[in-house]
Amino acid sequence: MTEHEGRIVVVTGAGSGIGAACCELFGSAGATVIGWDLRPSDESSTAVDVGDWDAVSAAADVLADLHGRVDVLVNCAGVITPNLSAEDVDPQDYRRNFDVNVMGIVHATKALHRLLVASDSAAIVNVASQAALVSLPCQTAYSASKGAVAALTRALAIDWAAQGIRVNAVCPGFTATPMAMGQMTPELDAAVSRRVPLGRIFQPAEIAEAIAFLGSRRASAITGVVLPVDGGWTAGEPALPM
Ligand code: NAD
Repeated sequence: MTEHEGRIVVVTGAGSGIGAACCELFGSAGATVIGWDLRPSDESSTAVDVGDWDAVSAAADVLADLHGRVDVLVNCAGVITPNLSAEDVDPQDYRRNFDVNVMGIVHATKALHRLLVASDSAAIVNVASQAALVSLPCQTAYSASKGAVAALTRALAIDWAAQGIRVNAVCPGFTATPMAMGQMTPELDAAVSRRVPLGRIFQPAEIAEAIAFLGSRRASAITGVVLPVDGGWTAGEPALPM
């Protein structure tokens, strides 16, 4: 039997990047995967804007009728706004980051709460960012939203521990997805690789491995953790030639 056999897994942001890698990994481990995305990539995904409470609530009702429970919720849907120094950031960019990156998680966790309670091994994994832990230049709005994801993760973990729902987050470093590659230049790629102690950017499947672990029964004692998956970026600078 594979690790997620028979489990019901919901992945937001399923249409691309890390979310798509999660769908593939959970699916190959035996789960029934339901993807939600603004732009669903295949017939197993549903068009849901996680920033829209009514849409999320309606999608949760469909899941309730079809499956009656959810075992794992991966909150991966996210947006990033252009690199700008703080004084040039439009307040609307803060709203856009918070509407999806934070309120998307608020909506999905609230709408699916009753279905998670119905599971005997419920887990939520939120996708934050290394920007939740250390500052990235010219990304005040995104960083603030991801900091809120880390705080929300810990708060949900405490509120729902007694109900048997574990809540954790991962903080990916630079990962080769359309979101990150849209901002990547050869110069930035080289600079990032120099800055990451493991010396490279990561593949979406490598982030999905950490998410699948936190969502599995193997992580049964872990809740409230905000886990860097960043090749050591937040641990410090790469070793110097001393
Ligand atoms: P991506 O752009 O490849 O995928 C994001 C997906 O989210 C897209 O399919 C998009 O359609 C979907 N989405 C956006 N807004 C949505 C909404 N309102 N409702 C439903 N779906 C929506 O990006 P990715 O890199 O795979 O990002 C996934 C997550 O990982 C994001 O939360 C991102 O902030 C985080 N992250 C990414 C990196 C990186 O370097 N790629 C680093 C740290 C954190």
